Amino acid sequence: MTAASEPAPAGTPAGGRAFAIALRNRFRGITVREGMLVRGPAGWGEFSPFAEYGPLEASRWWAACHEAAHRGWPEPLRERVPVNVTVPAVDPERAAGIVAAGGCATAKVKVAEKGQDWREDVARVEAVRAAIGPSGRVRVDANGAWDVDTAVRMTRELDRFDLEYVEQPCADLDGLAAVRRRVDVPVAADESVRRAEDPLKVRAADAADIVVLKVQPLGGVRAALRLAEACGLPVVVSSAVETSVGLAAGVALAAALPELPYACGLATMQMLTADVTADPLLPEDGFLPVRPVAVDEVALAAVETDPAAWRARAAEARVAGAT
Ligand SMILES: [Mg+2]
Repeated sequence: MTAASEPAPAGTPAGGRAFAIALRNRFRGITVREGMLVRGPAGWGEFSPFAEYGPLEASRWWAACHEAAHRGWPEPLRERVPVNVTVPAVDPERAAGIVAAGGCATAKVKVAEKGQDWREDVARVEAVRAAIGPSGRVRVDANGAWDVDTAVRMTRELDRFDLEYVEQPCADLDGLAAVRRRVDVPVAADESVRRAEDPLKVRAADAADIVVLKVQPLGGVRAALRLAEACGLPVVVSSAVETSVGLAAGVALAAALPELPYACGLATMQMLTADVTADPLLPEDGFLPVRPVAVDEVALAAVETDPAAWRARAAEARVAGAT
């Protein structure tokens, strides 16, 4: 037993620092993003599984945090990674403004928003295409909200504006596979990829042309690289709406992939109202730099919370992952 007066060993749950940062807009039903930061010999790691995840699922998020703090990441193959600007389900004028302000060559447009008419999706995508220009790339994300027939009809309709791909048009693998057989636009699986075994299931079901991978739920950068290789489909690296510490792991994955044909969904720092570093990972000219992120004590102090519950959760996750 470590005496209470001794400092906790580096990079263990016992030394974690908890944070709570308000989101600019509600996301996945939450308004505050919470998690824990751990410092080890290789740097800082983030452990921020969503509240509904039990110890076994959280164990992969812990593995990603532990990798960042203790091992660091594989050598990068590039110095910066392209990112997309995300356009929420807003009116066409605001959508065009977001694209212009984002400075990215790729835009991801949210569609199929509950309570909206399909013509609003058409108008938004049309405005985004006009704003980004003919050489820009436009992808749409339905977050699984369409049934198969609607997905087919809407994908064809929106492809008038030349879609790069349609992300998660339907909720389940059968739906994705059915849509994929009926449209020419590539299909990407996002919500269908949540656990390590999922990319291989997507592939086996012929359900997608592209998989969206996130580092924390898949257990770290190396685990995600192995999965990408085993799956064989092109990868879009995305975030779990983390602080810059967590985003750096996504950047490390994107930097280490042998091929990176698509812009990453890692420009999400702006979704949070604060960061834990003095030098946040924000896009410049549509790219994020590949670099370490250091926690700034003043920045962390502004968002720091009682770590007891997070330390306990991380300790449980560590045990669940070891068994
Ligand atoms: Mg998505």
